[in-house]
Amino acid sequence: MTTMRIAICGIHIESSTFTPYLSVESDFTVRRGEELLKRYPFITESDIPLMDRVPQHLAGDDWQVTGHRPWTEGVEWVPVLHASALPGGPIDADVFAMWRREICERLPEVGPLDAIFFDIHGAMSVPGLDDAEGYLIKGIRLAMGDDILIGACMDLHGNVSHDLFTMADMLTCYRMAPHEDAWVTRERAARTLVEWVRSGKGRPKKSLVHVPILLPGEKTSTRMQPAARLYDAVAEFADHTPGVIDASFWIGFAWADQPRCSAAFAAYGDDQDVLDAGMLRIAQQAWDARHEFEFVAPVDSFESALDKAIASDKRPFFISDSGDNPGAGGANDVTVALAEVLSRPEVTGDKVSVIVASIFDPETVRIAAEAGIGAEVAVSVGGKIDTRDPGPVQFTALVENLVDDPAGLLTAVLRLGGLRVIVTTRRNQYTMREQFTRLGLDPEKTDIVIVKIGYLEPYLHDIHADWILALTPGGVDQDLIRLGHSHINRPMFPFDDPDDVELSVIRS
Ligand SMILES: [Zn+2]
Repeated sequence: MTTMRIAICGIHIESSTFTPYLSVESDFTVRRGEELLKRYPFITESDIPLMDRVPQHLAGDDWQVTGHRPWTEGVEWVPVLHASALPGGPIDADVFAMWRREICERLPEVGPLDAIFFDIHGAMSVPGLDDAEGYLIKGIRLAMGDDILIGACMDLHGNVSHDLFTMADMLTCYRMAPHEDAWVTRERAARTLVEWVRSGKGRPKKSLVHVPILLPGEKTSTRMQPAARLYDAVAEFADHTPGVIDASFWIGFAWADQPRCSAAFAAYGDDQDVLDAGMLRIAQQAWDARHEFEFVAPVDSFESALDKAIASDKRPFFISDSGDNPGAGGANDVTVALAEVLSRPEVTGDKVSVIVASIFDPETVRIAAEAGIGAEVAVSVGGKIDTRDPGPVQFTALVENLVDDPAGLLTAVLRLGGLRVIVTTRRNQYTMREQFTRLGLDPEKTDIVIVKIGYLEPYLHDIHADWILALTPGGVDQDLIRLGHSHINRPMFPFDDPDDVELSVIRS
């Protein structure tokens, strides 16, 4: 027997405003109807292949949790529209407007609803808008009125703008980076919403505290302090404080130049004083810990990192080409690392084996495919979207492999001496073993693996013998100061470093 109806909608993307890449409709997986419901294991109770459901960088082990959830009994889930993409640049404004219109027009047409599950990232950018999620939820409120409950699940790299906080009845986010708890969190968010509707208490009380710090994810991994203890404090507060139903800590998104970008704490429940005191206390701890945030690995320039990797006897030696990480929104075709590797005779002379994973360049893949496996081709790789120096890199390579990726898009492996370059037809992050083995590559038996990633995702982290986070240039440069933000609120650490700040609570 249906006792409540909850609609699901959202647009999920992390957008760097410093990357020249424009995210278009084809970058997204768009789900409606049954396809949308299949995204959620707590609805289908089924074992759906991971790659079909989530962008791989959001993959966690918890997705395998299957089976009936008693808390979903009586809930009818109403699919509206969900679009998700690998992080990229801002979304084409027309595409955003089209999906926003569809969500806002369809919601009033799907019959009576008790609540809306708003499944977003929180760092979407659209040209001309400073707060895309805020604008989207405002549209939903206009269409649906003030009475309906809206609960949102977000990435901890999302931002909590005033509009988003005001228009939503509950916001929550992941508590792990890398996001191994992505699906646990979505289920927690949905379950909290369902239980709140069942309670019949109307709107929960809420408390938001912004903290003027803006840090790269690579300094805020929950594998390290102080992020680990701050997230523990949030979980402890949420799970063991009477009158609190949920609490979260958003690191915020450093690669968008918008006033909403900063860290935030928010909590929901029955007791306003308890919520306010808890959020102020943990937010103050975060502020006090601001100088403790350090990079998750040793950092260096790419050139120096490569020197060290070649000289090392630790294999595989990973180098993160972090400034062009497509998993955070990089263009995925900056050639700083590739050009440097090609200048090393140890590599081109086949004394040291190197994988470069990867460069987005459909034109080069097409040329390789026309030549065929085993052919020699003169190529000009990368530097076509993000055209910063050194731009496209010319060399002659052997076409070692041509393989369709799971989406049916061709990927080429180009070889020159000990170097293998993965060239793709779509922006992609290489995080899982099967992505390499599909191409005939074995990172575990390679001397140096260069990945366009910041912190190493779980499989890469498991196999690395050594690792340097190279502070390379790109749309998601980890050296925030050199990006040149001009629209964020000030003061903002590390752009400014005042002795103290006055933290304050926002309630509506
Ligand atoms: Zn994230």
